Amino acid sequence: MSSPLRYQFPILQESANGHPLVWLDNAATTQKPRAVINAVSSYYENANANVHRATHALSAKATHQFEEAREKVRQFINAESASEIIWTRGATEALNLLAMSWGTTHLQEGDEILLSTMEHHANIVPWQQVAQQTGAVIKVIPLNDKGELDLGEFKNLLSRQTKILSVTHVSNALGTINPVKDMVAHARKMGAKTIIDGSQAVAHFPVDVRDINCDFYVFSGHKVYGPTGIGVLYGRHELLAEMPPWQTGGEMIERVSFSGTTFNRPPFRFEAGTPNIAGVIGMAAAIDFLMEQNRSSLMQHEQLLRVRLENGLDRIPGLHRIGTSSKKTAVVSFVVDGIHGQDIGTMLDKRGIAVRTGHHCAMPLMEALGLSGTVRASLGCYNSIDDVDQIVSALKEIVEELGRERDYGKEIYTEG
Ligand code: PMP
Repeated sequence: MSSPLRYQFPILQESANGHPLVWLDNAATTQKPRAVINAVSSYYENANANVHRATHALSAKATHQFEEAREKVRQFINAESASEIIWTRGATEALNLLAMSWGTTHLQEGDEILLSTMEHHANIVPWQQVAQQTGAVIKVIPLNDKGELDLGEFKNLLSRQTKILSVTHVSNALGTINPVKDMVAHARKMGAKTIIDGSQAVAHFPVDVRDINCDFYVFSGHKVYGPTGIGVLYGRHELLAEMPPWQTGGEMIERVSFSGTTFNRPPFRFEAGTPNIAGVIGMAAAIDFLMEQNRSSLMQHEQLLRVRLENGLDRIPGLHRIGTSSKKTAVVSFVVDGIHGQDIGTMLDKRGIAVRTGHHCAMPLMEALGLSGTVRASLGCYNSIDDVDQIVSALKEIVEELGRERDYGKEIYTEG
């Protein structure tokens, strides 16, 4: 049975390699519902103008939609004020902004930045750059064998030297949901600022930044059924107010003269140049789409599919699931003895099934797991039991076929 939501996503009516498309690469990016596509084209057809600047009607219309979208994001994550919502190109740019603006001005030699083993490169590399510039040191929370953060070690690593805790809400490679509310409470007791990377969370369950009580929260539009090139940085107002701008130019200033420049207030201080207006409007439509759904039924649906997929995979000889926490989103990562993940991905693609293979931009995690990569199937709101059953039966065939080739190869090698 296919999901009723599937029909709202035009691309899911397409075929891939002669088969109906089965999109199981939602952790990389989600497909867009008709409402998002329409909102983007309607902006260009009816409201295209630069925002905040002109006196004419189109600019007023575009500005209204743009600022309405900011308010929508505020409600979506329950921030206190829309001025705490900054538009970025995505989670990567939001994390870079924090590292470069907050990090370079607040960190000193010997200060500690606490990250976790399961971070995406976007939450590692900016901190390495800042550490190099400031002399701060990066500490890393290890994992247990289920692919969960080792919370005992987390507490041992926290100290008065910890100035930043920056961790992902959900692992993009394993799907593990981290207990971020608890972690934030511990970090705050030590006086650390807290950043949560919500890129893999917001599409799958409701997020309340005031309940988590974090200082900053980031995510990308394209992983929550919105457009690419747009993302969000939430920051507590009092922290944003004392942060210097990162990028400079138009829009972010209060007054410019050759004797000096004063800066606009947040959020505008952090939005230099013409923003991705169509992206912002598309993002608002994506949030509307999600908020119109019964989110607890969606969560249940995705969990049901994950368990069905896990049970199916567990019956395939030589296949090992990686990351077996019971608190997971619908991400299933696995390896197969003696068969390269890329070969599996290619053969699934021939059957119209899209998964991701490789290190998933989490090389330190792969290193900690002793793997070069995994095959990752990640589910979204429009996936169905049919999709799950198709990948399971395709994998059975593929593993058998590639396994025969592998064993035949071994025979030739030992005979020769
Ligand atoms: N963090 C996590 C956990 C992610 O999954 C991703 C995207 N794979 C990012 C950060 C970076 O997001 P973007 O490329 O959209 O900036």
